[in-house]
Amino acid sequence: MSPKPTITIIGGGIGGLTLAAGLHLRKIPVQIYEAAQSFKEIGLGISLGPAAYRAMPLVHPAIQQIYDSLITTHADSPGYEEYLQTWFELIWATGPQEGNVLMNLKALPSGQTALRRADFLNALVDLIPSDIVHFGKRLNTLVEHDGRVVLGFEDGEVVDADVVIGCDGIRSRVKECMIPVESLRTKPVYSGMYGYRAVLEMGDMVKAVGEKRAHVATIYLGRGVYALSYPIVRARLVNIGIYVLSSRPWEYDSWVRPARREDMERDTKDMGRYVKALVEHMPDPSQWAIFEHPHISTYARSRVAILGDAAHASTPHQGAGAGQAIEDAHVLAELLSDSRVGSVDDVVKAFKAYDEIRRPRSQRVVTSSKENADILCSCFDGVRDDPVKLRETLDRRLKWLWDLDVQDQVERAREKMVEYLEIR
Ligand SMILES: Cc1cc2nc3c(=O)[nH]c(=O)nc-3n(C[C@H](O)[C@H](O)[C@H](O)COP(=O)(O)OP(=O)(O)OC[C@H]3O[C@@H](n4cnc5c(N)ncnc54)[C@H](O)[C@@H]3O)c2cc1C
Repeated sequence: MSPKPTITIIGGGIGGLTLAAGLHLRKIPVQIYEAAQSFKEIGLGISLGPAAYRAMPLVHPAIQQIYDSLITTHADSPGYEEYLQTWFELIWATGPQEGNVLMNLKALPSGQTALRRADFLNALVDLIPSDIVHFGKRLNTLVEHDGRVVLGFEDGEVVDADVVIGCDGIRSRVKECMIPVESLRTKPVYSGMYGYRAVLEMGDMVKAVGEKRAHVATIYLGRGVYALSYPIVRARLVNIGIYVLSSRPWEYDSWVRPARREDMERDTKDMGRYVKALVEHMPDPSQWAIFEHPHISTYARSRVAILGDAAHASTPHQGAGAGQAIEDAHVLAELLSDSRVGSVDDVVKAFKAYDEIRRPRSQRVVTSSKENADILCSCFDGVRDDPVKLRETLDRRLKWLWDLDVQDQVERAREKMVEYLEIR
């Protein structure tokens, strides 16, 4: 039997590296091209939900082992073990209920699991032989020509590929080349929200908000603003985000812009003592615009597919973006390693099945994540600050997101793929 086509991956973020590890484990030839020269320290934290956690070992058993070795849970905070299954405790940050708990939002069975993004990336790259990872390679052009995909990189190198999977994030060049006309009207859009972000030492966090709030992952519900914090690095550090709804368009070229401390104070002036204390300790008032992807009509065309943020970048308000990239990688790794997939034409059919199964769910996550920001800012129509409705809607949304049978998702994609493979 002839060898399977080589899969060329563009982008070595969580999506690209997870997929590369899964394909390499299954002995599928793979090459990966990453724009950055190396994985620089990106100190900020990331938290993954239960469905992505269950998908990890099914992509590659070592991914879950790596994740388990790096995560911080409430077990890392002695005295707070009772929160082991808590994802976030939600408290009111303003109004008459300020400081009171709305709900203890559980994520069964793992509770909050968070880690530093750069630690995860550095460990994932170790799962892949160094000779298949090419750093400092920014894709510029992608053209299908004479039964090949011709890739042009910014440094002038031209590479011929059998098939390509774009994992190159929200401003995906692969997506732009795959669906050029549609891409013009589906550029990433400003979600109407920007954030302030920081990682604080646990000692400073305790001074700011006290022992319990520092150690227990917390969402602070406000009006037009919400904040969150969760411990990382064995509870030595705490990741913080403060997100602000804004009706003004984002008028700056850069998605991160320097701002003044007064801007942060003005944005949080109606928040109570906890968020005010966080603001006092924030080292950098830069504003991070939150962009998202409009829904697109397909994640695959011919020999090219896209995965993760390249296909469905969402706002961060449900902590689900990276998890969706892992679910994508799981489905693709399983389809591409199926013994019935042998030729490039078969891969094209696998891509079609991947698109049909993954697009509806991942696009629903984009919609639901944006709505989640309104919920946490007490301005979601029909819910507002009604505690009963808030509890019910948050439970329902996360149940849908987290209770997925990840293997069933693969099997549904496989069934579709087999249907297409049978049409010769
Ligand atoms: C503030 C914030 C907080 C978040 N928090 C969470 C969270 O807690 N949990 C969660 O699940 N998700 C979270 N997310 C979302 C998550 O970060 C993304 O969904 C996830 O990183 C997507 O992974 P990816 O591999 O698809 O893309 P990326 O992480 O964007 O990786 C893309 C890679 O492609 C490379 N690249 C880009 N262009 C090119 C090119 N032309 N050629 C070659 N390489 C290229 C980049 O250098 C990068 O390495 C958050 C997002 C934000 C903005």
